[in-house]
Amino acid sequence: MSTPAEKPVWVDVKAILKISLISSIGDLPPELAASVSLEEKNYIAEIQRRGLLPFAVTPHFASLARPEQDDPIRRQFFPDPREALPDPCALNDPLGEYRFRAAPRLVHQYRDRALLLAAGTCAGYCRHCFRRVWLSSVSSNGMEELQPELAYLAAHPEIREILLSGGDPLTLDNAVLSDLFRRLREARPGVLLRVCTRVAITEPLRLDSETIALFAAFRPLRLAVQINHPRELSAPSRAALAACVNASIPIHVQTVLLRGINDDPALLAQLFQNCLDLGLSPYYLFQMDLAPGTAHFRVPLKRGIAIYRELGGLISGPGLSAYAVDLPGGGGKIRLHENVIAGEKTTPAGNVYVLKDSNGGEWYYPAGDEIYS
Ligand code: SF4
Repeated sequence: MSTPAEKPVWVDVKAILKISLISSIGDLPPELAASVSLEEKNYIAEIQRRGLLPFAVTPHFASLARPEQDDPIRRQFFPDPREALPDPCALNDPLGEYRFRAAPRLVHQYRDRALLLAAGTCAGYCRHCFRRVWLSSVSSNGMEELQPELAYLAAHPEIREILLSGGDPLTLDNAVLSDLFRRLREARPGVLLRVCTRVAITEPLRLDSETIALFAAFRPLRLAVQINHPRELSAPSRAALAACVNASIPIHVQTVLLRGINDDPALLAQLFQNCLDLGLSPYYLFQMDLAPGTAHFRVPLKRGIAIYRELGGLISGPGLSAYAVDLPGGGGKIRLHENVIAGEKTTPAGNVYVLKDSNGGEWYYPAGDEIYS
């Protein structure tokens, strides 16, 4: 496993984003730097020592944060010592993606779509990231060797859509992206490309006219953008998203339900309304996956269901994302509502809810709301 010292992510993406990621406290805006506690400093040192998900944030995203430790923007990028607390439910591969690896960088779990792990870096790291263990260990950002992935795609015509994720594919430069799109389309002519990204929020200038023209050249192509809080929709982000919409690039919004950040029906309604106003389509509201070091972000499942029920009365149908969870360990996505909880069990990892998939299979999700509250 490589360590952050072996994988200088801020160097990898600097030429592409045209900025240096902030990766030390001294480079934060002065008010934020002054707000860092000794415990937080010690934890950042521990992250570096242990090769955990790096601390790195774009200057733009850091500029949106306020110094309070519970600020919803600060919490999304600033390492929290609670990440180090034990979590008996944590899974290194919370979505069970290794089970569905068809090739080293290709996951084929659903019949008609496949996921390409197109990049090993991001424009800053979200502390709630479900792929944080993979991101901490991947040693290459590049897509030099794709033969097994392309051969698999060519041999599986049932795949109608390819999701490009990682990492953030927009930490690859446009020449590399263009070559990647071209090779995917050669393997599977006409396949729909879905580019999953957070740069529209963390480094909106990355979505410049050249990049948008690249997207337009490879239609059918859509973006899936993670947006978690109304304050993330800064003026530059709104401009970047509007430019994509004006270029007829469809944009789906994915939101992670995060404890103390957006676990409030009125706030989510505001977020989704803002997205609708910009011409974006709210798509998924995700219950947290069980990645290590993220339990303090987890909204108790029954509370999430109650929040979603209330949210339904605050926003029109087109603005209401589907509330869903990836069943831990590889069960796939299911929509969440009261009736999916089939029971409760005590396991060595604590009390869990029993969730049923569409085939009647049983999957477990932690029931307790006491963890790190
Ligand atoms: S941008 Fe996506 S892949 Fe990257 S750290 Fe955030 S959630 Fe994870």
